Amino acid sequence: MTRPIRLEISLSAIRHNFLFTRQHAQARHLFAVIKADAYGHGVLDTAKTLADLADGFALLNLEDAARLRDAGIDKPIVLLEGPFDAAEAAAMGGYRIGGAVHSQEQIAWLAKGSAERPVEAWLKVNSGMNRLGFRPQQAHDALASLRALPMVRPSAIMTHFATADDDYGVAEQWANFAPVAAQSGLPVSAANSAALLRHPHTHGDIGRPGIVLYGASPFEDATGAELGLKPAMTLSADIIGVQQLQAGDAVGYGRRFIADRPMRIGIAACGYADGYPRIAANGTPVAVDGQASATVGRVSMDMLAVDLSRLPQAGIGSRVELWGPQVPIEKVAACAGTISYELMSAVMPRVPRLLKD
Ligand SMILES: *Cc1c(COP(=O)(O)O)cnc(C)c1O
Repeated sequence: MTRPIRLEISLSAIRHNFLFTRQHAQARHLFAVIKADAYGHGVLDTAKTLADLADGFALLNLEDAARLRDAGIDKPIVLLEGPFDAAEAAAMGGYRIGGAVHSQEQIAWLAKGSAERPVEAWLKVNSGMNRLGFRPQQAHDALASLRALPMVRPSAIMTHFATADDDYGVAEQWANFAPVAAQSGLPVSAANSAALLRHPHTHGDIGRPGIVLYGASPFEDATGAELGLKPAMTLSADIIGVQQLQAGDAVGYGRRFIADRPMRIGIAACGYADGYPRIAANGTPVAVDGQASATVGRVSMDMLAVDLSRLPQAGIGSRVELWGPQVPIEKVAACAGTISYELMSAVMPRVPRLLKD
């Protein structure tokens, strides 16, 4: 017997979401962003299911990129942060793995490299997020340095938006980036999910959708389902205990919930050690056997409590959806003061994963 909790991944939802994104994108090419184990969906499974649709893949570690190659995926792969040291820079060409180049140090590592094949370099411009990249004024010189290296092939110029998903928008960063991008003559890559859905003038040649592929919304004002996406991840656990409460009874650690009337509650086999946020408020939505309900009390390491007062049929063995098609992950994230990205990528390895078509 295994503990009754599982993470279901719908591959057909991921494919639907990719095709949905393609319909909205002006960019000719879309590189699927599969960093952080494909936002918790499984890097290899996600890459395989998109292998015939995506124009390429974007992720962080060389190890994951090499796993894709070993699995026979031959689409272009780009490391979003580029090589982390000289050894990585030297290894990239052999696996036909390209990468962002955001620092002078990376150019120096690539210069030392002796790869069998030129490394495809995406020059990364810091257009205002101030995380990684060359300032727009430095981009010309950085590109000249890259062009001087025989074993490097500059193949794109990229930037990343800090506020494509909110009211601040992308105007300022786009104004900093667009002239440098045009001057470089390279294919342009700027748009994340939010920009692909709301800022068509930034689509350039290569879009980089992440969160939308997994069916969640990058925006605060809409869920993925409301945008036309299909949630690809369902976290669910079964009820393993039932308690009858009187008015005044407390639930869980810290007595954070006190019943104000007689109540029936169920204890589901999911806790923060599974990746469910401990900080989630009383009243965070769940669905019990398809019926809407909510959490009560503080989330424990291995369990959480849900209200069954209006669900007389529910009991031990009932299935509680924590997030998925019936419970928008964006709503759960909002109740925990975070975003869907963090919940998806924080599901713990102890939760068994099931692939559905
Ligand atoms: C994560 C990431 C993306 C994808 O962002 P989403 O908001 O998930 O679409 C695109 N580009 C870069 C550089 C990233 O780090």
